[in-house]
Amino acid sequence: MVKDDKAALEEDVLSYVRDFAKKEVGPLAKKIDEEEEVPKVLIEKMVKMGLFSSYIPEKYGGNSLSFTFLVRAIEEISKACPSTALVLDGALTLFAEPLLMFGSESLKKKYLTRVAEGSVGGLAITEPGAGSDAASISTKAVKRGSDYIVNGSKIFVSNGRIADFFVFDAVTEPSRGHRGITTFVAESNYPGIRISRDIHKMGIRGSSTVEIVFEDAVIPAENIVGTENDGFKVVMDTLDAGRIGIAAQAVGIAQGALDEAMSYIKQRKQFGKAIADFEGIQFMLAEMGTELEASRLLTYNAAQKWEKHEPCIMESSMAKLHASDAAMRITTDCVQLFGGYGYTTDFDAERHMRDAKITQIYEGTNQIQRIIIAREMLKGSR
Ligand SMILES: Cc1cc2nc3c(=O)[nH]c(=O)nc-3n(C[C@H](O)[C@H](O)[C@H](O)COP(=O)(O)OP(=O)(O)OC[C@H]3O[C@@H](n4cnc5c(N)ncnc54)[C@H](O)[C@@H]3O)c2cc1C
Repeated sequence: MVKDDKAALEEDVLSYVRDFAKKEVGPLAKKIDEEEEVPKVLIEKMVKMGLFSSYIPEKYGGNSLSFTFLVRAIEEISKACPSTALVLDGALTLFAEPLLMFGSESLKKKYLTRVAEGSVGGLAITEPGAGSDAASISTKAVKRGSDYIVNGSKIFVSNGRIADFFVFDAVTEPSRGHRGITTFVAESNYPGIRISRDIHKMGIRGSSTVEIVFEDAVIPAENIVGTENDGFKVVMDTLDAGRIGIAAQAVGIAQGALDEAMSYIKQRKQFGKAIADFEGIQFMLAEMGTELEASRLLTYNAAQKWEKHEPCIMESSMAKLHASDAAMRITTDCVQLFGGYGYTTDFDAERHMRDAKITQIYEGTNQIQRIIIAREMLKGSR
């Protein structure tokens, strides 16, 4: 496709995504939060709109749209409901991306075509004993013939209940530390893999988060993503893309909260005028708008670098750090703008604030992002 045609097509599809988020996702967001589930009909609609196939290359049944397109689609859907956006984000940035980067041709053919058709994927790295220190995982994979026998557990797996398959890592050579970790694809219905519990949360409550247990699970050696003992790099590189998706989610959450607060302050009257007319409120608005714009620009900048295969570890972390901290501040201030009503479930302001919090935590907490950014700065990558 010619570059300009592709850009025009992406803008066109984004206008449908915006419409879908506003008219179909938004009205269900409160129910999704209360019932802790994204309705199947919304996932099917995202598939029908071509969102699952968007980022998959044509060769595997997709439409080869850009990573920036994907990031903007995540942002649009997150304005209405970040749990719904996370279904798409998990399938593409967390499951498809490591296969695109490191997968064998046969793995790509087998799984990317299924993602393009609407299968949901996830990424399982975190363990009860290994969170920020991702190299300290203890799930083990032992080679037996042409398979690996896997034992251990993974916690906080997003898309857990709805994922058809997921990428996970396990120790294959314990004496070699992070150089003894291998990354695999597992199908959720492989024998020996089960969900041990659902995890109930403060925010993004519609997103299914589970703990997964491997009990002598049999994973074919052909399911290795990359090469044996090189899996730590696979998951770390995946998170570089994933963090841009989370930054987009944070931008969307903050924009959704701000849009609602803006219409409220224009109609809420105190002291004989709309509260939007008070300078104290306008200064809050100006700060929120500026922080949000900076977050968006950092996010798009990282996305553009990622799609051009330029180094962007630092940019990805900066986008995630800034956008998530800004989203937390903005959504908290939006509750403030609603006064007492913001503290009630009559309005969505409190939900946006609860949803924003996770963006400071997952795919590497913001303390870890600061470590990454400083390390990259000291290496002189800028
Ligand atoms: C809703 C949800 C969804 C998730 N989805 C997924 C998923 O799909 N796949 C997946 O693999 N994981 C997922 N996670 C896991 C998430 O990425 C981890 O929770 C996160 O990386 C932090 O790990 P931890 O919870 O073990 O915290 P810990 O690592 O125990 O950290 C606890 C605190 O210590 C701080 N800390 C740790 N080390 C340092 C340090 N060196 N310097 C300064 N501070 C430090 C942390 O920043 C944090 O504040 C999810 C988590 C949640 C809550």
